[in-house]
Amino acid sequence: MEVLTGKGERLPRIGFGTSQITGRACTNIVKTALGLGYRHIDTAQAYGNEDDVGRAIAQSTVKREDIFLTTKVWRSSLDAKGVARSTAESLDRLGTGYVDLLLVHWPNDSVPMGETLKAFAELKAEGKTRHIGVSNYTLRHLKEAVETHKADLLCNQLEYHPQLDQSALLGALRGYGMALVAYSPLGRGRMVKNAVLSAIGKKYGKSASQVALNWLVSQDAVATIPKASSEAHCRANLEVFDFALTEADRAEIASLTSNSRVWLPSWGPSWDD
Ligand code: NAP
Repeated sequence: MEVLTGKGERLPRIGFGTSQITGRACTNIVKTALGLGYRHIDTAQAYGNEDDVGRAIAQSTVKREDIFLTTKVWRSSLDAKGVARSTAESLDRLGTGYVDLLLVHWPNDSVPMGETLKAFAELKAEGKTRHIGVSNYTLRHLKEAVETHKADLLCNQLEYHPQLDQSALLGALRGYGMALVAYSPLGRGRMVKNAVLSAIGKKYGKSASQVALNWLVSQDAVATIPKASSEAHCRANLEVFDFALTEADRAEIASLTSNSRVWLPSWGPSWDD
């Protein structure tokens, strides 16, 4: 597994996303993923599956310390007390004393960012998380977090796939020594049958999904967390490091950008910020 290095960490470039998988199906597929070699697992308090993920880790033969485990605090719990309570609940459900990365799931401008980030830093100092980070932060949020609040953030987890240009945020993150962890890297399935990606993949004996994932993980400072429900998809999503896209391939992929987002929830930020 290729890793992204930075801030003293070795973050596996491909992680396993668990949103919208719960119960026994979640436990089973996370165990399968760990068995196949995934060492980076992404969950969130809001996914309602932290206990299922925790069970998979407990039942797996992979040691806890060999797994990079991420969870997130929902936007209604970003005040100091909420952060502490939400994280204590997450650790309890995950059955672990610490996570590797704790993220602000979505920004919430009605809570002072400094209060949230201070509470996150305290959890890090207490050893309840090894790193802190953010998700769905715009350029404005990121600048405030790093430059005003001096937060030591590992990453910004963002929607990123060939149909969504993230060059401005990616450039800023690189400048701050942070990673971009790409969520919905397959556009929640939209990339799977994309004709341009399929045609490029044919040259390398790869699928459209594998081209999309290779395109992400071959970019400096980018890791990603595709979700899959079957062993075949889990396995395919790991087999993305053994081919190299050419400049011509990249130019074709760049032509897919339409700034179309899968996720535009009512509580989301203004992405022009
Ligand atoms: P995604 O990973 O872009 O796409 C998942 C879809 O692609 C599923 O329908 C899956 O089908 C299919 N798929 C996966 N591998 C495939 C393969 N090799 N061939 C064909 N189809 C394949 O979508 P996502 O779940 O939205 O994003 C991934 C993770 O990002 C989430 O699980 C979550 O952990 C994280 N996320 C974070 C945020 C945030 O706000 N921070 C928001 C959204 C997502 P099957 O299920 O049938 O395998």
